[in-house]
Amino acid sequence: MYGDALCSFNPIYGQGMTIAVMESFALRQCLAAGTDDIARRFFRAAAALIDTPWQITVSSDLQHPGVEGKRPVQLRLFNWYITRLFRAAQSDIVLTTRFLEMLNLIRQPAALLEPGTALRVWRGNRRRTHRANPPLEAS
Ligand SMILES: Cc1cc2nc3c(=O)[nH]c(=O)nc-3n(C[C@H](O)[C@H](O)[C@H](O)COP(=O)(O)OP(=O)(O)OC[C@H]3O[C@@H](n4cnc5c(N)ncnc54)[C@H](O)[C@@H]3O)c2cc1C
Repeated sequence: MYGDALCSFNPIYGQGMTIAVMESFALRQCLAAGTDDIARRFFRAAAALIDTPWQITVSSDLQHPGVEGKRPVQLRLFNWYITRLFRAAQSDIVLTTRFLEMLNLIRQPAALLEPGTALRVWRGNRRRTHRANPPLEAS
């Protein structure tokens, strides 16, 4: 059992096929090592693959006030940061690419917190604040 039968994601994030394929590779690897304890070995490998996209989709869903669930400080901070990353990404193709790489499971979410990326987020938001509130002209 794998793919949607094992874990079905919210389709708006477009991760279901990627995970199904990754799970099929994991199954092939498990089978290559023999059939002893195959179920436990495969489900352990599949759980590790599912963890990251599940966290991504749950974190994003929990940004909506109507969604039930706990919102620990770590999650609220991450979502606060992601909102600012989205703003900066509107005029920064590097940030847009980094976000899409994370969403498409090429990079881990933690990569969005790397210093170089965080600096771009900060710069992008600072520029926007300046544009929204330009310094007052001396009269
Ligand atoms: C609207 C929508 C948009 C999506 N967009 C994306 C996207 O952009 N990117 C992405 O990665 N994922 C996307 N997904 C998710 C993706 O489609 C699924 O995660 C993926 O297809 C799961 O593959 P699967 O093989 O587990 O199941 P399925 O693709 O559902 O395959 C199961 C197959 O089993 C067959 N079947 C069922 N019961 C029986 C039975 N009793 N006997 C014989 N056959 C049976 C079904 O007919 C089906 O062909 C989207 C899903 C939806 C609903």
